[in-house]
Amino acid sequence: MSEIFSGSFTQQEPIPEDAIEAALAVLRHGRLHRYNVAAGEVGEVALLEQEFAAQMGARYCLAVASGGYALATALRAVGVGHSDTVLTNAFTLAPVPGSIAAVGAKPVFVDVTENLTIDLEDLAAKAGQAKVLMLSHMRGHLCDMDRLMEICDAAGITVIEDCAHTMGASWNGVKSGRHGAIGCYSCQTYKHVNAGEGGLLITDDEEIAARAIMLSGSYMLYGRHLAAPGPEVFERVKYETPNISGRMDNLRAAILRPQLRNLDAQVARWNERYRKLEDGLRGTPGLTVVERPAAEVYVGSSFQFLLLDWAEGAVQAVLDRCAARGVELKWFGVPEPVAFTSRYDSWRYTQTPRLPQSDRILAGIIDMRVPLTFSLEDCAQIAHIIRAEVSAVYQSG
Ligand SMILES: *Cc1c(COP(=O)(O)O)cnc(C)c1O
Repeated sequence: MSEIFSGSFTQQEPIPEDAIEAALAVLRHGRLHRYNVAAGEVGEVALLEQEFAAQMGARYCLAVASGGYALATALRAVGVGHSDTVLTNAFTLAPVPGSIAAVGAKPVFVDVTENLTIDLEDLAAKAGQAKVLMLSHMRGHLCDMDRLMEICDAAGITVIEDCAHTMGASWNGVKSGRHGAIGCYSCQTYKHVNAGEGGLLITDDEEIAARAIMLSGSYMLYGRHLAAPGPEVFERVKYETPNISGRMDNLRAAILRPQLRNLDAQVARWNERYRKLEDGLRGTPGLTVVERPAAEVYVGSSFQFLLLDWAEGAVQAVLDRCAARGVELKWFGVPEPVAFTSRYDSWRYTQTPRLPQSDRILAGIIDMRVPLTFSLEDCAQIAHIIRAEVSAVYQSG
């Protein structure tokens, strides 16, 4: 009987004890709303924003209710509205086109390359079609960010970065989220810090920061922010910016602050696991490992490989055989959206023409989560199982 993996691909680590203590302190005093502070007290959310801004080297930070809310707020804050177009990745997750739809705008999808990054040639070709790029660093793969910024700067395109999978990553020494005008992060359970739900938005632009804070539902309490511009900036925007409530609360912020202090150590642990998987899978016949560029510091919180140009039935056979041995793989090529693996043609509200290059690559993308509850031995075993099953199906085909 062949070996079976028994771990759970959706089980994250428990919340660290210091974060639990901080959460209990908030529960004990009861001031959960971010603007509900005692005389002289600075709330957990304001502190979280101050600390995350410093950690990322950004001037301003806003904590919000979710990553998707951060994306939509970023679009609103740079003035995207009804019937505008926004460039974005053909390979991403549903909250990204969803944020564009939330402001009444229309996505223009840009192709994905075999490296799973945005196709810069296609981006350059489509640069005239929009004034904003919502760049999703999907599954943590960073494109050549220097080249991307050259293209966007030359075309007058404002870049918003979706860093849901790149919190802690960098390109050529610049942190992910610091190339574009705005960086957005998710603090949802399956991302790099876990508050259940939550989002963070960073920027150096004072008007964007003031608008985002007003949008998130600050009423006229923006003076209680620590990572915000001065009151004179709010004076310019406060009557024109609607309140679309999506604040973070002090309980979530309390849980997040200790986790963010530990981010680099967690990134190192994810990457050890990622390398075990990569070592175990490299050289498997028919399987393409996504090679990571030297300029990229990534966070291996998930792992992708390609079964490029395989017949659908053969890919499905690999998935079934791995599943039977406890290895849960997701396939972006599946014709109907399953769980989180939807594709641009599943988002029918966008009415997008076919993208043949992306279709070919999406049809071959296999994806798996790598929770930190997996040991290095678990990762070696998972790679061993995938290698055996891919080889078996490949040889029989
Ligand atoms: C999770 C995710 C988001 C949005 O985050 P939520 O906090 O779930 O709203 C955005 N983009 C990508 C690529 C994601 O995976």
